[in-house]
Formats: sequence, structure tokens, C-alpha cells
Amino acid sequence: MKVGVIGGGQLGRMLAIAGTPLGMQFTFLDPAEYACAAALGEHLHADYSSPEHLQQLAQSVDLVTFEFESVPAETVAYLEQFVPVYPSANALRIARDRWFEKSMFKDLGIPTTEFADVLSQADLEAAVSQIGLPAVLKTRTLGYDGKGQKVLREAADVVDAFAYLGNVPCILEGFVAFSGEVSLVAVRGRDGEVQCYPLVHNIHNDGILHLSVASDAHTLQALAQDYASRVLQELDYVGVLAFEFFEVDGGLKANEIAPRVHNSGHWTIEGSECSQFENHLRAVAGLPLGSTASVEHSAMLNFIGSVPEASKVLSIADCHLHDYSKAAKAGRKVGHATLRSATPERLQQQIVALEGLLNV
Ligand code: AMP
Repeated sequence: MKVGVIGGGQLGRMLAIAGTPLGMQFTFLDPAEYACAAALGEHLHADYSSPEHLQQLAQSVDLVTFEFESVPAETVAYLEQFVPVYPSANALRIARDRWFEKSMFKDLGIPTTEFADVLSQADLEAAVSQIGLPAVLKTRTLGYDGKGQKVLREAADVVDAFAYLGNVPCILEGFVAFSGEVSLVAVRGRDGEVQCYPLVHNIHNDGILHLSVASDAHTLQALAQDYASRVLQELDYVGVLAFEFFEVDGGLKANEIAPRVHNSGHWTIEGSECSQFENHLRAVAGLPLGSTASVEHSAMLNFIGSVPEASKVLSIADCHLHDYSKAAKAGRKVGHATLRSATPERLQQQIVALEGLLNV
């Protein structure tokens, strides 16, 4: 089976690593000169909205999927005319826009923070008087890793905040005083079967994911699965969908969804019977889903900016290194490592050892 992937970054690379044993071949559409997934398939080096290259992609593959959500809606709509595309253009349209996304949570009865649409500085001021401070102003689209957002703590922060984010459509969200952040990676097959991985506890540094620790029988697992199932069904979704939640007062508030494989699910490569990458491919290809059961206790640590020396990372027992072969650059995700352990206590010791290698 030939799979076309929009985007050629590390998520595409890990999809190809998972799909190759299933007999899949990959073509990545990515305008970057160097795309780190290109080593594992064909690289269509072109803009996402070049009709000529979209046509070429559609004609050379059996289906198309995505490794990031900020794809122009027209690109997906165009491709859908010629080739099956999973997840659908409609799922992408909603998941890539924070206003649509949060409105959907509200319609489905999924708790989320108060929010308001902001199309001008005047809208922002009206939204602040309704929601209060502190609050978070976010661009509706294209935000990632904490980019495209500004925390507003006092009245002075509101002045020029809309211009600071580029005078583009935004939403204002009430600031959530959360006790933790968790995510749920779920997968839905073409036949509607849903499987979910265990909830993952996430720690961010400067808005970028630092550490994910998979939870064993989290008390909020069933609630998270209920919320995710509502969204999957509403969108008639096919593939992996990641759901990010804030833990508040013993419950969950939805933050956002990502219509793709997710950084907080990388641990599933070594930590689950069937990884999020393989399950995404199984889902979009119409194959039976694999087990999401865990193998031992797992955690994943991101390498941001640079990858520590391989010999040091691999000297930690049961540590699995993923170097994306990307150029070192401040703030860039260039690799990760997964740790696996028979006990949570030992896992904690491995995390401390691995964190000790960062910025050395
Ligand atoms: P996001 O891009 O929406 O995932 O936001 C990045 C990070 O900013 C989240 O993981 C949270 O740590 C923080 N954050 C986002 N939205 C809020 C909010 N409404 N209240 C408090 N913290 C937030």
C-alpha cells in the first residue's frame, strides 16, 4: 500500500518506520529542502497548495494522511476529490481552529475553560471584561509549542495584545489553575472501532513538552475516554487523535485536540503492544487495530535543541534513543528517548539519570 503524508517531519518519519513492516511505502509532501522523513520514502519537495504536486501525490498513492494539522483546508478539499484522505477535511477544519474546537467541546458537553472569539482589540477588551484576568489570548490557528499565545495577567498586558499576536483571529481563554496536564491518545478505525492508550501525565517547559509519563490505571481514564469518544464519533474520525486535558478539582477540562499522532504518544513505540504510529496506519488503511495495552511502565523525554551523546543516553538501562537527524537549533524538537521499567520507582530513577544528560 502506498501512503501519502502531508508533512515530512519526525512524525512522518516515525509513521514510515512503523508502516514499513506492514508493506507500506511512503511519499512525503513537504516544502522544506531537508525533511527528516525523506530518508524513509519519496520526498515531494513542493508547497502544500501546489495543484501540480497535489495531483502528482494523489495519483501515486492509495491514501493520504497528515503529520501536522496546519494544512490549508483547500489542500485537503482538493486531495479528497481524487484519493481517500484520513482524517477528513472536516475533522481537520475543526481541530486546527481553536474557536471551532472549543465550540465543539461545549456542544458535546465536554468541560472546557470559558472562551470568547476575538477579532479585534475592541473584542479583546470586551472579552476581558466578560472572562476576567488572568486569561490567555491565543491565535485561532497555527499555534504550536506555546507559540501564538500570550498570558494576560494585568490590565497593562491587554493593551496591544491583539497586535502582539499579529492582528489575526484569536480566542481569549480563562486561565486554568490546573493541578496537572494529561493527554489521551485515541484511535478510531474506518469501521468505528475505538481504542485508547493509558492517560499520560505531561510536563512542559516554556510551552514545549518536556516529559510524558504513562499512567497506570489513572482514576480519570474512563472520563477521558468518554470525552474522546464523543469527539471521535462527532467527527466520524479515522486515525489517531490526541486529546489534551487540564486536571482541575479532580476532573478534566479539555484544552485541545490534535488530529494526528502526538508527541505525548511517542512512548508507545516501545511501551505498548502496538504503537500510536502503527495504529494510525492500521486505522487509515482499514486494517484491524492493534492492542493499546502497555508493556511495563514507560516515560518519554524530549530532546530540545540538541541530542545528548548517544553513548551516554544508551548507557541508561532500558533507554531507547530516537534521533530525528535534524540540525541542532534552540527550541527545536530534535529527538526523544523512551524509558521502560518494571516498577514506577525504577522508572523515576531512569528519568533523573536521563534528565542529568540535558544541557551538559
Ligand atoms: P496549548 O498550545 O493550548 O496546548 O498551550 C500550551 C501550554 O500553555 C499548555 O500545555 C498549558 O501549559 C498552557 N496553557 C494553555 N492554555 C492555558 C489556559 N487556558 N490556562 C492555563 N494554562 C494554559
